[in-house]
Amino acid sequence: MALRDYYEILGVSRSASQEEIKRAYRKLALKYHPDRNPGSKEAEEKFKEAAEAYEVLSDAQKKSTYDQFGHDGLRGTFGRDGFDISDFIYRHLHDSDLQDLLGNLGGLFGGGLFGDLFGTRTGRRRAAQRRGSDLQVRLKLSLAEIATGVEKRLRVKRLEKCDACGGTGASEEGSLKTCASCQGTGEIRQVSRSFFGQFVNVATCNVCGGSGQVIAHPCPKCGGEGRMRGSTTISVKIPAGVSEGNYIPIRSRGNVGPRGGPPGDVLVFIEEKEDEYFTRRDNDIICEVPISYSQAALGDELEVPTLDSHMKIRIPPGTQSGKVFRLKGKGIPHVRGYGVGDELVKIVVWTPTKLSEEAKKLFAELAKTEGIEPPKPGRSFWGKVKDALGM
Ligand SMILES: [Zn+2]
Ligand SMILES: [Zn+2]
Repeated sequence: MALRDYYEILGVSRSASQEEIKRAYRKLALKYHPDRNPGSKEAEEKFKEAAEAYEVLSDAQKKSTYDQFGHDGLRGTFGRDGFDISDFIYRHLHDSDLQDLLGNLGGLFGGGLFGDLFGTRTGRRRAAQRRGSDLQVRLKLSLAEIATGVEKRLRVKRLEKCDACGGTGASEEGSLKTCASCQGTGEIRQVSRSFFGQFVNVATCNVCGGSGQVIAHPCPKCGGEGRMRGSTTISVKIPAGVSEGNYIPIRSRGNVGPRGGPPGDVLVFIEEKEDEYFTRRDNDIICEVPISYSQAALGDELEVPTLDSHMKIRIPPGTQSGKVFRLKGKGIPHVRGYGVGDELVKIVVWTPTKLSEEAKKLFAELAKTEGIEPPKPGRSFWGKVKDALGM
């Protein structure tokens, strides 16, 4: 299915402000809100679509990626299963501007049970479970790893399901009781008036925390929380060309939720290791190579490092300090696969600091010869240098 343009979905221009984007989203979310469109599959799709568009356009980094590369640029952003409306609602529950729209939906999701939201509302739904939190992990990579892409295994400390109670938080079979306050639905309904007209406001039950059950005898190992400390090993594929600050989400490998709630994600944040030879500038890498006077004057063949090994370059006679040689395609590939950066070799003429008596004599001798004096400083000097370099 061809994806619709996010700006078109929200009906805003590409130069719309964050304020306008939010207003446009609010309007659509109101229009397609499940409370106003019970059982409508079409409204469900529109509601999701608007949320996805808002999710991208309200986030500076995602928006800029989308502006540059369109939908292709966002591939993988929402994980393998694509955009998840329940995650969206959880993420925006605390936004005071959206609370009235999303607040009564949050409790309806038990790990992406979107069908429940729009399905028949008679009878008892499964009580909501709280999702576990996301974990942030930092991963340091060398420039060489960034240039090729790499797969890494990471050990992550996280909260896991309690093995004594299987995550229920109860010490024994039968010690879980239906919450009397909400009759096991996990939520308290109140009829209220709002701009929707009269509607049912649904709030999470504060007696059972939304689980629908209370524990008569809590599990001694986890104290009724249903979770315990543990760790796991995850494997993460890093594409070539990532930069410091990029992150890769690994879905459902974070902390599990309390009392059997679904797990959060692991967010792997990329950091760059300092390199022995190179500094990075976007997708180019820069390497300073010191050479001697005589190499600069006579020209020479130099061996310079590259990201994967080294190579020989020829510098012409009369090479000035500061001259940059560009090695095409020896830099870092673009993260979305559009081309490769270059390696810039910057020549620095190295001045000897300790001279033997003999060397001193030779330098003195050399200084007397023709054409060895540098030109006077000023504009004309740089003009001559540029001429000499053919710039
Ligand atoms: Zn337990
Ligand atoms: Zn309750």
